[in-house]
This record gives sequence, structure tokens and C-alpha cells, in this order.
Amino acid sequence: MHLNPYGEDAVNLAAALANHRPESAEELATRCRAAGLVVERPAATQDLRRTATALDAWEAVVDATDGRERADLLNRMLAAASSHPRLTDHSGDGWHLHYRDDRQSLGALLASLIAVGTALHLVGRGMHRLGRCAVAECTTIFADTTRTGRQRYCSQRCANRDAVRRHRAGQAAGRPR
Ligand SMILES: [Zn+2]
Ligand SMILES: [Zn+2]
Repeated sequence: MHLNPYGEDAVNLAAALANHRPESAEELATRCRAAGLVVERPAATQDLRRTATALDAWEAVVDATDGRERADLLNRMLAAASSHPRLTDHSGDGWHLHYRDDRQSLGALLASLIAVGTALHLVGRGMHRLGRCAVAECTTIFADTTRTGRQRYCSQRCANRDAVRRHRAGQAAGRPR
């Protein structure tokens, strides 16, 4: 996975991992590979733990109520997880930037990728483009990569569910007694 200028793949991977936390190191490695990440070393329990810590910090970024708080929390993640940028061609598919030291464990790599990818996403597309589904009982996190930047639901299913509910509430309110 190369970080594209908008960090889209990285921020989407963070959301997928936060929404359904991996239960084993193997599951974590498999899902990272499926997302296009080059996993160079075997994953261990430590990687699972490091990833969970990064995702907890990331969820606080998601739940921040304004841009300033969001930036402060994310800056803390960047300070802890990222390093100076450098050019690399380690995976044989061209030169790209890494914002971390070489030969990092999967957990450390993910912490860096999530922090930098989210930072690129927010500054590139807008600080508000990260949140949870507007359906009250759905806590699913999404990164808004839509053209308009007005995504409110995690899925079409939740959007439909809320539309039906609002329609029913409207009918009930208008019903004669
Ligand atoms: Zn790379
Ligand atoms: Zn939802």
C-alpha cells in the first residue's frame, strides 16, 4: 500500500480495523495484506496490542468535536508513531514515501500509517471528513471521501433505515387524534 496524496486507503483501513477489531495477530496480518499492505515480518501478539492502542487513540480523533481538538489529538499520534519522511523502493513497485523508520514491526508500521494517512485525508479533503454513522444505534466509523463531503451514514442501508424512521415519525406526528 502506498500512501496516496489523500491517504484514502490508509484511513479506510483504519476505519475497517476500528469497526471490526482483529482478534488475532494472524487475522490482523491477513487483513492488512488484503488491503494491499506489504507485511514483511510475521505478526505477533505485540502487534495486535500496538494496533489496538493506535486504534483507541484514533477513535478519540474520530470523536473529537472540533477541528482544533482533532488536530491536537492527531498531532500526538504523529509524534508518537511517525518519523521523518524518506524515499524507498523496498517493495519493487516504485519509489514512494515512508513516514517511519525501516524494519518496523507490523504494529508500529500500522500506527504510523494510520496517523499519517488520516492527517493527509483530513488536510486534503477537510477536517470534518471523519465520523460515526448518524443512526443512533450504529457506531460505525467512516471516512468521508464523497465528492460533496456531506456523508452522514456508514452505508446506504443505514441511510434507508433512517429515512423510513423519519417518515414514520412524520406520519405519527400528523395523525389526527
Ligand atoms: Zn512502502
Ligand atoms: Zn450505520
